[in-house]
Amino acid sequence: MQDLHLKVLRTDVAGMPLEWINYQQAAKLHALDQVVYDVGQTVYRIHGGISAVSGQRSRITVRAVIATCGVHPGHGHNHPAYSPPLCNTSLFKRDQNLCLYCGDQFRDIELSRDHVTPISRGGQDIWSNVVTACKRCNNHKADRSPEQAGLELIAIPFIPTHAEYIFLQSKQILADQMDFLLAHFPRNSPLLERIDKSLIEHEATGEH
Ligand SMILES: [Zn+2]
Repeated sequence: MQDLHLKVLRTDVAGMPLEWINYQQAAKLHALDQVVYDVGQTVYRIHGGISAVSGQRSRITVRAVIATCGVHPGHGHNHPAYSPPLCNTSLFKRDQNLCLYCGDQFRDIELSRDHVTPISRGGQDIWSNVVTACKRCNNHKADRSPEQAGLELIAIPFIPTHAEYIFLQSKQILADQMDFLLAHFPRNSPLLERIDKSLIEHEATGEH
């Protein structure tokens, strides 16, 4: 079964998760000899050209996790003040698609980003001041604090670490990749209790 959307987890040599890359980027890193080691199941087998020297057809095997050398874009991600970019898809996933006011679960299109302290009252558009809210609760709350609107948050908004953010970005995740991410989650990560293990995939192979 081909699945070109399946992403490869790129880490540094110490196994610190850096980013999701697609199969072309992974193949390129292999071709450029930048992969120090790779782990996990084979997700892609990519056939290249025929070597003029050997007459053999080149083949690149891409595994679920690849560790690369060199300078990484992830430099600074472990700084205590680091905050990943804020987007609704990752925010809704952080909050498990639950409205943090009424506690009901919704699809992405039925949800909105609520600023706990409204922007009009000096609140900021940052992870620690935003929660997932259904449109009904968000409209009801309007430009008020939760207390003023008679609402209570069912969970405290938190700033994801880089490893947590990589998890929040993924739509599809393999068990091998999850192991790497979990190893770098903070011990008290609120996500540990929220991860829906049924969404973690154990099998995936693409032939190209
Ligand atoms: Zn609600």
